[in-house]
Amino acid sequence: MIDHSRRGIFRRFSTKKTESPLTQQRLPWVKNEVDFVSQCTRCEKCITACEEQIIVKGDGGFPIVDFTKGECSFCEGCAQSCPENLFDLTVAPAFSHKISINESCLAKKSVECRSCSDMCETQAIRFQLVLGNVAQPQINLDVCNGCGGCVAACPTSAISMTLEEAK
Ligand code: SF4
Ligand code: SF4
Ligand code: SF4
Repeated sequence: MIDHSRRGIFRRFSTKKTESPLTQQRLPWVKNEVDFVSQCTRCEKCITACEEQIIVKGDGGFPIVDFTKGECSFCEGCAQSCPENLFDLTVAPAFSHKISINESCLAKKSVECRSCSDMCETQAIRFQLVLGNVAQPQINLDVCNGCGGCVAACPTSAISMTLEEAK
């Protein structure tokens, strides 16, 4: 019998580039999206194990990280608690999404704000002085670890994540 909830997720994960920016992304260290959707039993052990309580039930009941709830501390709780063979803690980086800042950003509207940068432990977001305007955010994706700390910190929800490439 066809499991419609899994089929829908397969369709989503088979898309090479997501059309719209998202603040919900797959769990860290997931080895393979297709295996994840076919083998995750939706037991919710990872949801319970997450010390930051940022994992929620997503489409079809599959767990997903909701970065509007906070940032990932990389505690490994999700991967360690999973009874299935879905995670590989040697995978680096843990997340493959890329962050972006859209036009809702206060600084882009010439309003002083550095909330995202203040939350970023890796200093992936820096503010560059601009003549005649407030300082503007610059993202260094090479340094960003995808923790999502900047997402919840932004007062205008201007930061989102895009999964560039599904495995
Ligand atoms: S690594 Fe820890 S904080 Fe991050 S999603 Fe997994 S359980 Fe939550
Ligand atoms: S612990 Fe593993 S099998 Fe259970 S819901 Fe989370 S990812 Fe799926
Ligand atoms: S997701 Fe990247 S830019 Fe945002 S706080 Fe984390 S490391 Fe910094």
